[in-house]
Amino acid sequence: MTSSKKILAIQGDITQQAVDAIVNAANNSLLGGGGVDRAIHRAAGGQLLEECRRLGGCATGDAKMTKGYRLLAKWVIHAVGPVWRGGNQGEDELLARCYRRSLELAAENDIKSIAFPAISTGIYGFPLERATRIAVTEVKQFLQHSSCIEQVIFVCFDTRTYECYKQVLLELL
Ligand code: ADP
Repeated sequence: MTSSKKILAIQGDITQQAVDAIVNAANNSLLGGGGVDRAIHRAAGGQLLEECRRLGGCATGDAKMTKGYRLLAKWVIHAVGPVWRGGNQGEDELLARCYRRSLELAAENDIKSIAFPAISTGIYGFPLERATRIAVTEVKQFLQHSSCIEQVIFVCFDTRTYECYKQVLLELL
């Protein structure tokens, strides 16, 4: 585990985290996809999809919140990251906005602990280190002016992602 008091990275499965909210790397439909999205829907149960159907989708760079149903987490924040298209299509800002919007929703709902996956770095193809720098920078900046969120956990599924987060956290925190 690499940590500051408030921001840490662990290697693990986000569906198993006992936090107030977990963030899902969703797609625009919010109707489920592959990767972490699939794992979250499977662990939460069918009621999650029912609630998601009523949300009418979500724009890239935005986020919407649902209950967590069978998850340990009370809430799921569904954030839609950008598909990587070479870096000149506003991908950096869209990814940054995803983290900001998720944190804003958390703060508005009195969420004290939140876990993020490495949004956009799987199927959506965003370069890992570049995405990690954006994630860490946005979280750090947000926590500087928010007193409500006490802990942010970056949950890294694989060793490569975990090693990258450890290095970037050491550098930027
Ligand atoms: P995207 O479409 O936004 O790229 P993916 O789900 O394909 O989303 O991948 C995002 C990250 O989530 C990747 O690092 C992937 O390895 C990771 N991931 C997949 N399953 C889980 C899980 N159960 N817990 C945490 N991270 C996961």
